[in-house]
Amino acid sequence: MNRVLNDAWGNPSSSYGFGARVRSEIERSRESVAKLINARPHEVIFTSSGTEANNMALLSAVATRPTCKHIVTTTVEHSSVLTLVDHLKKKGYEVTKVPVDREGVVCVSEVESALREDTAIVTVMWANNETGVLHPVFEIGALCRRRGILFHCDAVQALGKVPVDVSKLDCDYLSFSAHKIHGPKGCGALWLRDPSICEPLIRGGHQEHGLRGGTEDVAAIVGFGVAAEICAQEGTKNLLYVRELRDALEQGILDSVSNAEVNGCRLNRIPHITNIAFPGVSAQALVVLLDAAGVCASAGSACMAFTKEPSHVIKAMKPEFAECSVRFCLDPSNTNTEIESACLKVVQAVTALRQSALA
Ligand code: PLP
Repeated sequence: MNRVLNDAWGNPSSSYGFGARVRSEIERSRESVAKLINARPHEVIFTSSGTEANNMALLSAVATRPTCKHIVTTTVEHSSVLTLVDHLKKKGYEVTKVPVDREGVVCVSEVESALREDTAIVTVMWANNETGVLHPVFEIGALCRRRGILFHCDAVQALGKVPVDVSKLDCDYLSFSAHKIHGPKGCGALWLRDPSICEPLIRGGHQEHGLRGGTEDVAAIVGFGVAAEICAQEGTKNLLYVRELRDALEQGILDSVSNAEVNGCRLNRIPHITNIAFPGVSAQALVVLLDAAGVCASAGSACMAFTKEPSHVIKAMKPEFAECSVRFCLDPSNTNTEIESACLKVVQAVTALRQSALA
C-alpha cells in the first residue's frame, strides 16, 4: 500500500502509461481476490466495505426483480442487511425475518416455508459475527436455486475462516470485507454470478466494469489483494492455532466463572470468535472493566457499539442472555500468555461485578 501511495499514485482511469500501470495494480488484486474464492476476476467488484457490498447485492436484486416485493432474511444478520431491509419495508417491501434456534442457527425448512412466489431474494449470512456460528448456506443456496430465487450470502466473516469456493455454493451474490482478512478497513468486494443481476449503487464513470462509479481507492484495493494472497498461502495453519487459543479462553472462563455459558453452536462455527454469557452481570459494565484492564471485548458488533440496545443476535437466540453476553474475537497474533491473562482478568471483573451487585 505504501508503494502504491508513494510511487503508483496515478489515476487508474487515465489513458497514459502511468495510469495504465496503476490500473494493472487493481487488476492484479482482482485476480488475487478471485483466486481466493475460485471465481473469475471479472466477477469481482471492489466496493468501499462489506456494508456497501451487502447494500449493492440486495438493492440489485430488488431492482432486477421489479415485480417481486418480498425479501427473506434472518433475525441475526449484520446491521448492514437488517437496517437496509427495514428501510425497504418502509418503501413497501414485505420482509420475513426467519428466527434462529437457541444455538443461533437458522433452519433450512423454516427458510423454505418463508419463500413465496414474489420473493425477490433470500439473504443469509455464512458465519455470524457475534457468535461465529455457521449457517446452512449450501442447503439454503440449493433451495433458492431450485425455486429460481436469487440468493445473497454475507461471507464477510467466513472468508479466510472456512473454504469459500463459489463453484460449490448455489449463490448469486457474495459479500466480502478486506479488514476481516487483515486487509485495510474501507475496502470490500461483491462477487456476482452474473453482471446482468447487478444495478450500480453508485453511478458515475465506467470504473468496476461500469458497476461502481468513482475513482478507485487503489492502495486499499492493493492491500486487499495482498491480504488475499497471504490468506491463500497460509491455508488452515493459523486457524488451528487460533481455535486452540479460543478453546483455551472458553475453557478457562467456564472452569472459573460459575454459570457462564457459551452462546451458539460449539461444533459448527468459525474458530476465532466466542460469545459468553455471564448471568447476573451487565455486559456493558463488563466490557468497560475489561477495557480498563487491557482486554478488548464487546457486547455486540462494532457497528452497533454506540447504541445502548442489547445484542440483537443474542436476543434472537437466548433473550435471557441478551444483556449479559460478551463477545471475544481472537487472532493468530494472540499468544497463550495473553489468553491466560485475559482469562484471569475476566474472572476478576465478573467477580467484582457480582460482588458489587450483592453489596
Ligand atoms: N457483515 C458482517 C457479517 C460483518 O461482520 C461486517 C463487519 O464486521 C460487515 C458485514 C460489514 O463490513 P464492513 O465493516 O467492511 O462494512
